[in-house]
Amino acid sequence: MTRALINIDYTVDFVADEGALTCGKPGQQIEEEITKITLDFIENNDYVVFAIDAHSQKDAFHPETKLFPPHNIIGTEGRLLYGALNKVYANNRFEENVYWIDKTRYSAFAGTDLELKLRERSITEIHLVGVCTDICVLHTAVDAYNKGFKIVVHQSAVASFNQTGHEWALQHFSQSLGAEVI
Ligand code: ZN
Repeated sequence: MTRALINIDYTVDFVADEGALTCGKPGQQIEEEITKITLDFIENNDYVVFAIDAHSQKDAFHPETKLFPPHNIIGTEGRLLYGALNKVYANNRFEENVYWIDKTRYSAFAGTDLELKLRERSITEIHLVGVCTDICVLHTAVDAYNKGFKIVVHQSAVASFNQTGHEWALQHFSQSLGAEVI
């Protein structure tokens, strides 16, 4: 096991029509692909991490409070994984190679034990899926680059509300972070 899949923020709030901070259609369109890739990694016994935004309702000290409406509030439905991915998680959550991380910043590495979990397992290659391509996926990729991980981005399983940002980020992954975009 030297590969890990990092599933980023594919929740109701970020994907569903009624989500608090939704990517909308582009997010919904990757449902099948993100679910399939996740299942493949789980069944292949690769390490699968769900790195999911966790906020409290009124956090005056959080930098996102000034930037975005409240989203992914702990204990709300908005924080559930979206669509078929939620079932995959529910069916596999107790598997040894499946891990859930509550993150509070864009990057899955910021303030979490993600790096420890990867290093313990001698994982050198991380695969990224989820939303938004140009925010949380991007910031996670930048941290992964600085920490020396090989990065693979699955372009059919990342999405953003901002098409221009999405395309820019895909280019940035390959041209500036040395990622493989597949
Ligand atoms: Zn957030």
